[in-house]
Amino acid sequence: MLGFIIFGTRGVRSTVEQGQFYCPQCDGQKPYKLKKVTQFFTLYFIPLIPLGSKGKYVECQNCKNTYIERILEMKPTIDVSERPQPKPQVESRPRIDSNPQTETVEQIPSYDTSADDEKPRQRQEEELMPAKQRAIKKLLIMMILADGVVDDQEISVFHKVYKDITGAYVGNIYHEIDVVKGKREKPEEYLKSVATFLNEEGKRDVIKACMMIAAADGDIDPSELKMVKKFGEALEMRPAEVKAIIDQVIIPA
Ligand SMILES: [Zn+2]
Repeated sequence: MLGFIIFGTRGVRSTVEQGQFYCPQCDGQKPYKLKKVTQFFTLYFIPLIPLGSKGKYVECQNCKNTYIERILEMKPTIDVSERPQPKPQVESRPRIDSNPQTETVEQIPSYDTSADDEKPRQRQEEELMPAKQRAIKKLLIMMILADGVVDDQEISVFHKVYKDITGAYVGNIYHEIDVVKGKREKPEEYLKSVATFLNEEGKRDVIKACMMIAAADGDIDPSELKMVKKFGEALEMRPAEVKAIIDQVIIPA
């Protein structure tokens, strides 16, 4: 018996450049690696034949977040040393138990983006978010929209999971939902398109976030498990790696 021959394709990462850059998540100059992703034909998950380049991304060596290459051109408009406290993040953490006047909502540092101001500002800011954060936000919204109705319970679960995993808070969730709704993209297709720009840490967090959403109602049914496994496949993760994350997620009592 030969059994199954498992073949497919997978992106393989290599470092093509390194240096120092301004990482918005770390809020400071940090070492980075510019990674190039090459598509390979794989046999039993072993990359054998290179099929061409898929793209590049920047990985912060401090926080391990990944960004589009253009982040290297970005400089904070405010001198980091003169920046007032508290330190801004791409999206700042909401303060628990704070009153509405002091609650911080989606603070995005201002960049000197004068070179390409033909692009709408919001789109630029979205692009400069860590790839993981952007992917989790969009995928969780897609999961919320899966049954066609959005209820308050789902919104509060979204905020909790998104904050737990990324440390960030989405100010105008209903606007974000409208944007995702308008695109009518399938989650698997979306994940395939972003897999190139996520490292192992990022992919793990995406799957973890999905599992937390699935487990939020107190149980995970087989269809939800199947869906999460499909998401892992779309992200080019090994089944064993996805299973390890699934096993770690604790279902709330
Ligand atoms: Zn960083």
